[in-house]
Amino acid sequence: MAFEKFRRKASSKMRDYQRRTSAAPTPSWMQGRYGSDHLGRLLLVLSLVCIVLSLFPRLWLLSLVGLVILSICYWRMFSKRTDKRYQENMRYLRATAGIRRRVRKARKRHADRKVYRYVRCPECRKEMRVPKGKGTVRIVCPACKSEFTTKS
Ligand SMILES: [Zn+2]
Repeated sequence: MAFEKFRRKASSKMRDYQRRTSAAPTPSWMQGRYGSDHLGRLLLVLSLVCIVLSLFPRLWLLSLVGLVILSICYWRMFSKRTDKRYQENMRYLRATAGIRRRVRKARKRHADRKVYRYVRCPECRKEMRVPKGKGTVRIVCPACKSEFTTKS
């Protein structure tokens, strides 16, 4: 049947794709376990920071804190309650959405600091960017339509 043929071909293509992209197959002992996520990576970084700081003489207690955090990190990775772990991660992402947005913005500003200058509308405080090196420019705020001039 044509469909059977198509399916066989598609699945062999899929195998080729997996081989090419060297997507490591999930090992059997990891099957059904949760694995890594954003919260997991944060815990890992926190535990490493604690362990490094614990090398300072007065901060040795931090090595215990780091080990506890690392244990939580691994316990989450090997957990089979994937729904609960997923919910934890979502709570973490929601709670830190504002901070992560600000970090993203700061990175972007830094990346194009040579090409753009960031200014605020004097009327509505909306932030916008203007190309650098164009002398004095007249700007119409896209939000409130008020006009102002600024150096670029
Ligand atoms: Zn405005």
